[in-house]
Amino acid sequence: MRLALVLLWLGAAAACGPGRGFTHRPGPRRLYPLVFGQHVPNIIEDNGRASGPPEGRITRDDEKFKDLVPNYNPDIDFKDDEGTGADRLMTQRCKEKLNTLAISVMMQWPGVRLRVIEGWDEEGSHLEHSLHYEGRAVDVTTSDRDRRKYGMLARLAYEAGFDWVYYESRSYIHCSVKTESSVGMGAGCFPGEARVLTTEGERDLASLRIGEKVLAADDTGKMVYSEVIAFIDRDPNATRRFIEVTAENGVAVTATPSHLLLLAAADGWREAFAAAVRPGDVLLTRGEGGVMRPARVTHTRPVFKRGVYAPLTKTGTVIVNDALASCYAVVRSHALAHAAMAPLRWRAGWRGAAAGDAPRGVHWYASALYYFGDFVLPSSYTYR
Ligand SMILES: [Zn+2]
Repeated sequence: MRLALVLLWLGAAAACGPGRGFTHRPGPRRLYPLVFGQHVPNIIEDNGRASGPPEGRITRDDEKFKDLVPNYNPDIDFKDDEGTGADRLMTQRCKEKLNTLAISVMMQWPGVRLRVIEGWDEEGSHLEHSLHYEGRAVDVTTSDRDRRKYGMLARLAYEAGFDWVYYESRSYIHCSVKTESSVGMGAGCFPGEARVLTTEGERDLASLRIGEKVLAADDTGKMVYSEVIAFIDRDPNATRRFIEVTAENGVAVTATPSHLLLLAAADGWREAFAAAVRPGDVLLTRGEGGVMRPARVTHTRPVFKRGVYAPLTKTGTVIVNDALASCYAVVRSHALAHAAMAPLRWRAGWRGAAAGDAPRGVHWYASALYYFGDFVLPSSYTYR
């Protein structure tokens, strides 16, 4: 239901279409900083609607230790005062949210980076049931340690998709996530072998770089080349379960179950989790003359593949293995907004919608991309 509301509201916001003037636009939604001591959502951390209960400490000898992944994102500073690299270890979900937050921080405060002062804790320095022991929590600051930023940092963390964010101390923000099993889905990525078309020719995702332009679809549904502005995730060594979706014309796209594919619908397109695509659904595949060609899905199957890649393009879409996909999986706001806006602009005869329930929708980031077409990323923003 929230999704529907977000879509409706975004539709209203998007109805004016692209352009430079701001006259008729509602403008980016205002994000309010948290105040010291506040947490969002306003329930306890181990409530199932927040991060959920602790499931037990993970030690280096545990079977579950292999579920923790290192985060080597060069755009994040890790304090690592233990000197063990433990602060870099976290669950996949935590890593994704953190990487998304790193993007938000750089765009909110050019020249400033995200800094992690605590991640996985193997030394017992937190309270008994802390999610730090499971790699499900991080304590963050900004790289300039300007405490006046922390309230907004907390807000950005929530918008980035952390399941519970707490302005716990004047000197840091505590952020935590649900377990992978409780969300039932892995991350939103494509395998490294997935093919994309760049202006320089065809290549696999593993060799794609920031700044290259890949074939995507714009907000009118036309195929365009769109610049890769970031990788939400990029891990050549991870092996994951993907869903392979095959269409009648032989196009087969592979994505993690929670990744959003874009399917043809009576009024344009609709988004669907890869795991929810069924035979009979209609993929949008690369066609002739810049137009997407609908192709009916014949079957889907789970496959295991190595390498996970989630490129983010300016349009928020990417054509992978000749099928149209969103750049996003399940994240709370900007991703949802970004992915949701474009399809709605396709809808002929859109009349706007009652914006009664203003949802947490348009992150200023998505707004920036859509409303300030020439938004420039900090030059330091690269993923090596
Ligand atoms: Zn903490």
